Amino acid sequence: QAKAAGGNTYRFFTPEMNLRISERVTLENNLRRALYGDEIFVHYQPQTDVRNGRLIGFEALVRWQHPELGNIPPTRFIPVAEESSLIYQVGERVLREACQQNRHWQDLGLPPVVVAVNLSAVQLRLPDLPQRVARILAETGLDARWLELEITESAFIHDTERIIDVLQQLRAIGIKLSVDDFGTGYSSLGYLKRLPFDRIKIDQSFVRDLPDGSDDVAIVRAIIAIAASLQKEVIAEGVEQEAQSEFLLQLGCELMQGYHFGKPASAASAEALLRGMAQQA
Ligand code: C2E
Ligand code: MG
Ligand code: MG
Ligand code: MG
Repeated sequence: QAKAAGGNTYRFFTPEMNLRISERVTLENNLRRALYGDEIFVHYQPQTDVRNGRLIGFEALVRWQHPELGNIPPTRFIPVAEESSLIYQVGERVLREACQQNRHWQDLGLPPVVVAVNLSAVQLRLPDLPQRVARILAETGLDARWLELEITESAFIHDTERIIDVLQQLRAIGIKLSVDDFGTGYSSLGYLKRLPFDRIKIDQSFVRDLPDGSDDVAIVRAIIAIAASLQKEVIAEGVEQEAQSEFLLQLGCELMQGYHFGKPASAASAEALLRGMAQQA
């Protein structure tokens, strides 16, 4: 583009970049407004222990239903929220709603389960994050053992020492911690040993081509072995087919999440699953 402009003319923003920036600003303004209303809400995706088919918990996933633009996926608006300070509000909103909902299910006498909430790397940099999370638990009345926080692997690249400190404080409260999207970041096995994690989530990109993709088979096998030797739980994400599920189980991965077991769905759908579980017991 700079070349097409000829000679030494140098345009800082190409038209395409301008468009992207204005799109981002629009999205950001829309999001700021949306946070006042009820366009932002949470869906819940079941996590299953495949050995007995039991529901072990849910992952809370943020949803944004815009009145004109329709459903805007988190992969589009979370990065925008992370570039502004809106991620703090989005994060608190999801965390509070998930904790409130989980406590409500317990108050109904349904079997208690863990609800996992995604945490942005930006939120991890808040020095008072543990206090903020503790306050939300206190306000909603949820016991910390029913909350899990998922942190994507790439969040550990910078500020590792400070992050370890924050994670240790969260764990001291009694919250469970998991490494999300494991295998996609700049994995260093050293950090895994030092970070106080309970669970590793195998990224769905490694699950997709099972059981045929031979590289993926090798990677998944290695992740399961690492988890076992570090005495961490392991859960596979993005399990869509029975064949994938059987294969993972053979490799020793017993916990799974994916469309094969249930898509992310409303709190009411999640509640129906809990009721079904109560009847089984
Ligand atoms: P993630 O935390 O790795 O969440 C899993 C994503 O995979 C979700 O996409 C889920 O709907 C999708 N998924 C689950 N099972 C399957 C499957 O069998 N097949 C396929 N193809 N996909 C499956 P979603 O809800 O669009 O979220 C995308 C990402 O956005 C999340 O990845 C997470 O990184 C981020 N995200 C979602 N909610 C939040 C949130 O509340 N806070 C933050 N900070 N990030 C969030
Ligand atoms: Mg996640
Ligand atoms: Mg993931
Ligand atoms: Mg992901």
